[in-house]
Amino acid sequence: MCAWPSSSSTSSASDSRISCARTPSTLTEAEMFHTRRARSRTTGPLPVRLPAVDTIDQLLTNNERFAYSLAERHLDVKPSRQLAVVTCMDSRLDVFAALGLGDGEAHVLRNAGGVITDDVIRSLAISQRLLETREVMLIHHTDCGMQKISDDGFRAELQEATGVSPAFAIESFSDVDVDVRQSILRVRRSPFVPHREAVRGFVYDVDTHRLREVEAPD
Ligand SMILES: [Zn+2]
Repeated sequence: MCAWPSSSSTSSASDSRISCARTPSTLTEAEMFHTRRARSRTTGPLPVRLPAVDTIDQLLTNNERFAYSLAERHLDVKPSRQLAVVTCMDSRLDVFAALGLGDGEAHVLRNAGGVITDDVIRSLAISQRLLETREVMLIHHTDCGMQKISDDGFRAELQEATGVSPAFAIESFSDVDVDVRQSILRVRRSPFVPHREAVRGFVYDVDTHRLREVEAPD
């Protein structure tokens, strides 16, 4: 991996994507200004007391390094693998790394639990009808936060805190395999999703990083 810009306390998984396409000697004055600003945020002399820095501000600095290190390019809006992945928002699942996917290859739809909601069906309808995806891969995972709550309990908690009972379904679950099958069937039975012959479901183990397929009867 390229040694510049130097890693710092703000280094993250995204650093692994930085290539050596550009070095400081090839940067414009404007880029050098931004780079100095970015570096001063991360590598300048330490004050006696560090000011609070928002995480988003750190990520903006990461993005400056990321963008400067890559050549400009334009990929087709239609995913090249004609694939849509629906999965949980869990922070331990790096979908692109776990599946060996690259930019421009697949749609990735995420929510709490990887649940097939009306909004996920909306996105799949657009993905297939307008952007030519054909396969749907559903990925739930072990140790999901949605297994640690109940629909009634969380609904009551929300109502007590806000005075309003939410209109949306909570969609908690206890058995991950059962929920994967439920998700497969929801996609297969949706009239808005035209290509339903290649819908497959999996459980990702957050400790071993392996996928296990869950079969669902038609
Ligand atoms: Zn989860």
